[in-house]
Amino acid sequence: MFGLIGHLTSLQHAQSVARDLGYPEYADQGLDFWCMAPPQIVDDITVTSITGQTIYGKYVESCFLPEMLASQRIKAATRKIVNAMAHAQKNGINITALGGFSSIIFENFNLQRITRIRNIQLDLQRFTTGNTHTAYIICRQVEQGAQQLGIDLNKATVAVCGATGDIGSAVCRWLDARTDTAELLLVARHQGRLETLQSELGRGKILSIEEALPLADIVVWVASMPKGIDIEVEKLKHPCLMIDGGYPKNLGTKIQHPDIHILNGGIVEHSLDIDWKIMHIVNMNIPNRQLFACFAESMLLEFEQLHTNFSWGRNEITVAKMEKIGEISLKHGFKPLALAI
Ligand code: NDP
Repeated sequence: MFGLIGHLTSLQHAQSVARDLGYPEYADQGLDFWCMAPPQIVDDITVTSITGQTIYGKYVESCFLPEMLASQRIKAATRKIVNAMAHAQKNGINITALGGFSSIIFENFNLQRITRIRNIQLDLQRFTTGNTHTAYIICRQVEQGAQQLGIDLNKATVAVCGATGDIGSAVCRWLDARTDTAELLLVARHQGRLETLQSELGRGKILSIEEALPLADIVVWVASMPKGIDIEVEKLKHPCLMIDGGYPKNLGTKIQHPDIHILNGGIVEHSLDIDWKIMHIVNMNIPNRQLFACFAESMLLEFEQLHTNFSWGRNEITVAKMEKIGEISLKHGFKPLALAI
């Protein structure tokens, strides 16, 4: 059985979802209440591959909210993640993806030191960040999106915002090794990590967001921002492809301009309907088929009976592993979300 540990994008979102899912006691509560709330299994999932194989899974709502980080409720945030992991394990789930901020919190606050939750000894082999599949899907979206818009990668400048992160660094490695992208712009806040990435790649210009955006034909957004930022359309290249892989989304405003193409990044579409309720509440356009690539990674590992932490640690995603998960993804009928043009 596979599992997905997820969270909602804001307190307001959580309150409205709680009402829809039949938890009225959560719907009128503030952040303090959510800080205390235990994890819940809120969905049972059945997925069939195009090979004909069927697997079963569960969705674990961790009750973490990005406002916990913004308001420095670090202890509450970390407790949400390890409690959700213990809950998944206690419910017999073999491989669980840590969605959205779950894996970021796990890494940032070094949660591998917490090995025991009450009577449960956490077995980390049963968890995956899902970031290898996410990075692979975003790279395919860059390649396919560029082709759709007539952007020649060998003449193009690609800015990766969040370049030093787990997903961002993997995207940079792929673009360097598997495409002929002309120029890579590396954007993040911490200069030392940017320099380490630049020397690993042997290329890439380190720039601030403000400097990078006007130069980029394609922008990959994979920064771990609890809240999106606003972009001035006039300062962008025309056309420009923006692939927003953040959860919550990195782009704060809905940009509406015929030359600026926004694509939901790190999202896959399955070839067959998935029996679940959960994607209806995170505003997917086709909730029975579209999902986060990190969640799909745990499904893929279950299909292949690879009950192991395929994606783990930070900045260790190799191009070879991205290719491997990409092959499995295709085999079972998942494809990257494409631009609707
Ligand atoms: P990491 O924490 O590993 O990396 C985050 C990156 O963002 C770092 O490079 C960090 O560098 C940078 N960053 C953070 N804040 C800012 C800022 N204000 N301005 C510029 N750069 C910033 O995160 P992951 O790679 O694991 O995840 C990245 C994003 O992808 C998250 O939003 C996550 O929720 C989302 N995600 C999406 C998935 C999907 O299936 N679609 C799956 C998993 C994650 P620095 O701190 O130096 O600025």
